Amino acid sequence: MPQFSCPKCGAALAVDPGTQIAKCQFCGTVTYVDRSEALFYYLLPFTIDEVKAKGIFKRWTAGPAMAKELENGCKITKIVKEFFPVFRFRRSVNKSEKVFVRPARGTTLPGMHNLEIPPGGEVIYDERVSIGDAKQIDPDISIGSYIGEMPGDAIDQALVYFPIYEITYEFEGKSYDVVIDGSSGRVFSGPSPSRSSAQYMAVMGMAFVLGLIGGFLACSIHILLIVIAAGGLILGRQMAQKVVTKQPAPVAGATGSGSDQKQVGDGAEQAGADNADNAAGADAAGAGADAGSAAAEAQPEATAAAETAENAAESEVKQ
Ligand SMILES: [Zn+2]
Repeated sequence: MPQFSCPKCGAALAVDPGTQIAKCQFCGTVTYVDRSEALFYYLLPFTIDEVKAKGIFKRWTAGPAMAKELENGCKITKIVKEFFPVFRFRRSVNKSEKVFVRPARGTTLPGMHNLEIPPGGEVIYDERVSIGDAKQIDPDISIGSYIGEMPGDAIDQALVYFPIYEITYEFEGKSYDVVIDGSSGRVFSGPSPSRSSAQYMAVMGMAFVLGLIGGFLACSIHILLIVIAAGGLILGRQMAQKVVTKQPAPVAGATGSGSDQKQVGDGAEQAGADNADNAAGADAAGAGADAGSAAAEAQPEATAAAETAENAAESEVKQ
């Protein structure tokens, strides 16, 4: 029989064989006696009742990543309110305190490796604490199996009963599990009916098309602005010309700049025409070159064909 000592005061603990709960005779600390040591023994109370848990579940089924029909198409087949045993390791890692939580029972339930115990939220689990209508799950893993993977040095170790709702639901003939943290309301899910990739692609495709339309709209607004600006310029020039024609004594600046613009415009047009000519010339040259090369390619073939014909003729003659 191994000797156990109180995790709080270090006094020797009298542990009755076959029991896992011991109370220190000196300081009164209630401990959970693991295979190799006595641990602090806590319980984290529920802060979320079953009605609230169902509400959280419903909101979760309506989430954007979930199958479209899940919210209305799923059916809760089982909801279990339970205290799940976890080990809490408080460690000093590089002089700062880190907390690690690990399941104290083998489980396939989602989230049991990622639970978080809010600091100070736990209560000492002794005879005064009632678990109410919740089920209490017994540990079946020894704390010793986790010690090796823990970084830093131990500050203390505890067995904490963690409040969860284990929800089983059916959707399209299949059964799924979800865990709701009864303390924080966090939702943990294993495989769940999510939106299929096809649906996802459809949504993404839609977003892409909307993006394109947005882009086109932005461009056309841009073009619209240019058209308006150009229209404004032309209108402005016409008005200026009207003013000029009405007044025999010309406003030299206005006319001058107007005709200058015209000239610049003509010049640009001329340049444009030149460019067009050049381009046409280049095209023509290109076409000429293409034709030339085609002819060059065609020639050897023709020669070869002629030679074959001649050979054939010769062989016929020989026969
Ligand atoms: Zn003690």
